[in-house]
Amino acid sequence: MPTVAQPHSSSSHATPESAGRYLWCSTCRTDRHLQVLSAEPHRHPQSVLVEVTYTCSHCGHVFGHTATYEQVAAVLDRPTSAERRAGLRDY
Ligand SMILES: [Zn+2]
Repeated sequence: MPTVAQPHSSSSHATPESAGRYLWCSTCRTDRHLQVLSAEPHRHPQSVLVEVTYTCSHCGHVFGHTATYEQVAAVLDRPTSAERRAGLRDY
């Protein structure tokens, strides 16, 4: 029998389950109001994951799970950069 590509062996898609989750408020269904409280590096030095804790300033929910730096930065960049720019322009 020839070795056919198996549908379950996704060799080309390197998407481990430990890829983390995007920061998201499931109550407000948006990430606009999220504020990152903490982002602790994962135990494994080679891991790109961080243990992130964040709150939604709109509904007050607090969330915590593992995410990648990119996923955390996606939320961190928005309000922080906006506030910094506003602050810099005030000075
Ligand atoms: Zn919310």
